[in-house]
Amino acid sequence: MRVLLSVTAAAQQCLTSTPNPRAPLSQRAKFKVIVANSVANPIKERYNMENITCRSGIMENKLIKLINLVQKLPEVCLDDVIEHVEGLIEKNTEEKPVPPCPHCGSNAKRNGSKDGTQRFKCKTCGKTYVKTTNTAMYNSHFGEATWKQVIMVTVNGVSLDETAKSLSLAHSTVFNMRHKILLALESEELHDPTVLDKVCEMDDTYVLESLKGTKIADNYWREPRKHGAVAQKRGVSNEYVSISAGVQRDGDAYAQSVTRATPGKDDISAVFNGHLGEAVLIVCDGAASYNALGEACGSIVINVSEENRGGFSHINTVNGFHSFIKGRYNDYRGVATKYLNRYNSLFSRVYRGDAYLVDKILGIIQFNDVQRYHSINDVKTLNLLDI
Ligand SMILES: [Zn+2]
Repeated sequence: MRVLLSVTAAAQQCLTSTPNPRAPLSQRAKFKVIVANSVANPIKERYNMENITCRSGIMENKLIKLINLVQKLPEVCLDDVIEHVEGLIEKNTEEKPVPPCPHCGSNAKRNGSKDGTQRFKCKTCGKTYVKTTNTAMYNSHFGEATWKQVIMVTVNGVSLDETAKSLSLAHSTVFNMRHKILLALESEELHDPTVLDKVCEMDDTYVLESLKGTKIADNYWREPRKHGAVAQKRGVSNEYVSISAGVQRDGDAYAQSVTRATPGKDDISAVFNGHLGEAVLIVCDGAASYNALGEACGSIVINVSEENRGGFSHINTVNGFHSFIKGRYNDYRGVATKYLNRYNSLFSRVYRGDAYLVDKILGIIQFNDVQRYHSINDVKTLNLLDI
């Protein structure tokens, strides 16, 4: 059997044997030229990327990965690759079904395209729309692949700076995408609240108030803090914001912030209102506010003090959740207090360890519901924590 030539060698041979370099190249020859260039030139110039519209580094990285993979193939496989790609192109250009009208749910028809985006017109209400109308992805310059990458790094606790750098996106773009994702999660929580049941551990943790991204007024009640600085007063003072959390031992986690310093019984009642099942058994550290909560909803409360911990009596699960939240705080180098509850929605979901979380979040931001659609203006104003 003949030894197969490597793609590179074949492509180089093809180049040197081309009798007229100005003659139009066949598709196969063009493909070989790209592969040959990939070996001959440094990475930056390799792929003639200036001729390809890349809205982000993600597309660029994928193309580079694809070309690197193709280089490893023997020449005989190239025809299969070309045939497969041509098939994909054909499939992709086939007419896709018209999505129903997001305003009234009726059937619609195609209504031309603008800037490469297909538009639709409702046959009943006459309104025009695009596929992403009333979704968090509306008006975005980026497609599903980029959103999925941003969701993935958000779930994995990557900071905005690192995300912007690694995906070659502007910081403001990543900020808006991140916050639309967080708002979508927060809205989902309001729409379909987490209900804690059975054995549920509850406790509070504290994070320093952060005015990150906001200019502190001259007459603000405390001195501005340098990055990494500690509280100016000892103990749990007004400089801290509390995060009250509940974790069902074999289930969901939920966290919310409603006040500074130690939360009182009304605060705890506000946090868990609508989030407790009928048969919940509360395990807490003996705080009066949690005992009052148990009394108000007719639940058994087990107080676990430092001395009697062991076996069933512990709050390790909720303390683990708090440690996770604090770890994320360090990864992000703090979270602005006004956005705290948006992040609490994320932390609760991530801590549950759902293997399909990224796809679920993608589904949430693609869901068109005018009640839950979030614009850039919503990012700046909606559901801010003001305490
Ligand atoms: Zn309609």
